[in-house]
Amino acid sequence: MKILFVASEVSPFAKTGGLADVTGSLPRALRKQRHDVRIIMPLYQCIEDSGFPIKKARKGVEALIGGVLEKGLLRQTTLDDIPVYLIDRKEYFQRPHLYGTPAGDYPDNSRRFGFFCRGVVDLLKRLDFRPDIIHCHDWQTALVPTIIRYEHQDDPFFLKTALIYTIHNLAYQGLFPAEALSELGLDPSYFTIDRLEYYGKVNLMKGGILTADVVNTVSASYCREIRTEEMGCGLDGVLRQRDHDLYGILNGIDYNEWNPATDPALFKNYTASALSGKAAGKKALQKALGLEQRPDIPLLGMITRLSAQKGIDLLEKLLPRFRSSRLQLVILGTGDERYMTMLSAFQKKGADNISIHLAFDQVLARRVYAASDMFLMPSHYEPCGLGQLIALRYGAIPVVRKTGGLADTVFDARDGFREPNGFTFDEYSPKAFWGAVARALEAYGERKSWDRMVRSGMNSDYSWEHSAGEYEAMYEKALKKVR
Ligand code: ADP
Repeated sequence: MKILFVASEVSPFAKTGGLADVTGSLPRALRKQRHDVRIIMPLYQCIEDSGFPIKKARKGVEALIGGVLEKGLLRQTTLDDIPVYLIDRKEYFQRPHLYGTPAGDYPDNSRRFGFFCRGVVDLLKRLDFRPDIIHCHDWQTALVPTIIRYEHQDDPFFLKTALIYTIHNLAYQGLFPAEALSELGLDPSYFTIDRLEYYGKVNLMKGGILTADVVNTVSASYCREIRTEEMGCGLDGVLRQRDHDLYGILNGIDYNEWNPATDPALFKNYTASALSGKAAGKKALQKALGLEQRPDIPLLGMITRLSAQKGIDLLEKLLPRFRSSRLQLVILGTGDERYMTMLSAFQKKGADNISIHLAFDQVLARRVYAASDMFLMPSHYEPCGLGQLIALRYGAIPVVRKTGGLADTVFDARDGFREPNGFTFDEYSPKAFWGAVARALEAYGERKSWDRMVRSGMNSDYSWEHSAGEYEAMYEKALKKVR
């Protein structure tokens, strides 16, 4: 199949979260199955700053935005042997962040991603590449299926192309005031309940859900949850309309990229059968962060976007408890200003056993996964979650709230699992969270069974091999609908 990935972030080029991990690793897994895969994304400042080799292409892109024909340039790089097209319009993408600053989203995001999506559709016809599958991700690219479906319905170029839309996080829908319609190059006919109108606003994700041939999200549990009023973020009705075309496919992680045996960022590499490197990495991290260097104190890691979704308010309530307990806690995160302020205020008060880093730091992240005995994800909701999968791979036992993809990947003995790989809790409360942490701390004392759990987590398989097959099957189903 000829498969085009359209995404607003792709690892290693630009990343704010799990979306980039997926759009960086799923194409590679599909490429291994010998599909012709290509990727399109914006050319952000961070990509140029990181020194990736970027070629100029003779072609440009055009998009009618707010009645003005705007032009962009096309650049190209590669991900292994996968061509990556980069849409370059400095005014929109040469900025320090992808979507906004900690204070909030960039005010012209509808224009920026409207230009990107229109640019993608424009570009496809100029490239010598007619995809069988166009696979779009999250609100930033939701306009692609919408405009192909409504503006190109009779266009032979797209007639046999299946449109796939993946929801990585239903809470970020691309909601804009009605006036954004013209900036997106859309006429008023789009502002109806069966298209993009949503309580007086323009909702880009709604358009993606309604117009793609098939829609999926990133775990079976989240796929069930989002059809309920409680967790549907206002789009549960729209999702239920697509019930027959809605799938849940668990994300994987790239086992070459995330491999404690070869990870060059680690102080010391290790494997499930030779864990001494993990202990050495813990000691080195304790030293680097000014924590007491003791192998027997459990080290808890948390690497996260600082947003309400991730249970930061539960963490906040428990910080005094973490401080007074016999454990060490390393927090690495960036995100909402209010949480940054709260954590930096706590940091100033000082706690010998807690180390807080308000940054996006991929090297430190890898060292924390490797050094941690436990990994915390008290998420309010979690579409899939990659943190717990990376933690398992690095021998850190996940302590998570049983929701979405966390419920599908972390198995607790309390639920009768014979081979547990972590600790879970149900109720979204500090008490329940602490209950799971306390059970993990107690289990940590039983070294033999603890090490067994660590090894079995490291040996479990959450690579893309299986899920890439499920994507292929879903693509086939979508193709049947258009052929
Ligand atoms: P989400 O996509 O909702 O943020 P996931 O668990 O799916 O959550 O993926 C998060 C990804 O981003 C993981 O690869 C994690 O290691 C990484 N990450 C999150 N915060 C940071 C940070 N501050 N520094 C480095 N990596 C981070």
